[in-house]
Amino acid sequence: VTSLVICGIRGRMGQALAQLVAGADDLQVSAGIDRDPAAGTEARELGCPRIEDAGRAAGVIREADVVIDFSAPDATHELLTGSADALAGRALVIGTTGLEAATERLLEEQAGRTAVLTAANFSIGVNLLVTLVEQTAAALDAGAWDIEIVEAHHGRKVDAPSGTALALADAASRGRGAKLDEVRRDGRSGRTGVRPPGEIGLHAVRGGGVIGDHAVMFIAARERIELSHHALDRSLFAEGALAAARWIAGRSPGRYTMAQVLGLHGGTRG
Ligand code: NAD
Repeated sequence: VTSLVICGIRGRMGQALAQLVAGADDLQVSAGIDRDPAAGTEARELGCPRIEDAGRAAGVIREADVVIDFSAPDATHELLTGSADALAGRALVIGTTGLEAATERLLEEQAGRTAVLTAANFSIGVNLLVTLVEQTAAALDAGAWDIEIVEAHHGRKVDAPSGTALALADAASRGRGAKLDEVRRDGRSGRTGVRPPGEIGLHAVRGGGVIGDHAVMFIAARERIELSHHALDRSLFAEGALAAARWIAGRSPGRYTMAQVLGLHGGTRG
């Protein structure tokens, strides 16, 4: 049985993960990580024997095979600063989005002694979409086809644009041989001037209970292609993260991608 520590266990994704693990014979949650570690009874209701703070989780991590993190950027940072030694020789699956550059650097270092998989999106559909977007961008003339990405999520999401929208934008710029930082345009307002060719626009819609919609538009003078994905249930991401945990348990240190787990070419990272 593969033993898991879930960071963000009290959250929407943490709960979706704990529920799926409860129905799986080959997995168990040995502990959770979240704010305000609570009474044992509450922890058990959440599907784990105990809850720890992100900064003080080294003890429970040492006893686990895989840490799965769907929390918040500062929690991920604390996990990496407080438990770097405990994570050595184990595996880490990260779904938290909007990580700071300093956290990304810690992850890169940690990958020298831990098997690390990060994915902006754990669904098969989005990972395939990333490949399709890269191929489509490569096939179309950047001077004639404008790329705009629109994403929608529930109103409680705290980062924008979504990590998935950024992964799609990254794939589009890669397909064009461009650098995303040089062509990215986050939203428009006021006297924007005319749209420069090669720009990649990113737009975030927030509201209600939307789980995750992404559309990549390739717009020419007389026609438009739209490649889109709609997540219908949050357990989709939880299922993908557990597939990643099963796949990565016991692997050598290094960086891995969801595309490898799914056997796809390309895929999301970060
Ligand atoms: P949520 O707000 O419902 O849950 C986050 C949990 O983390 C909460 O229980 C919160 O208490 C805990 N937390 C926050 N800061 C903490 C800290 N400093 N220390 C300890 N615990 C802390 O959010 P969610 O909808 O479950 O999403 C969590 C993350 O996963 C977000 O970054 C989201 O963008 C990302 N996400 C990724 C995917 C994917 O496929 N990669 C899918 C869905 C969500």
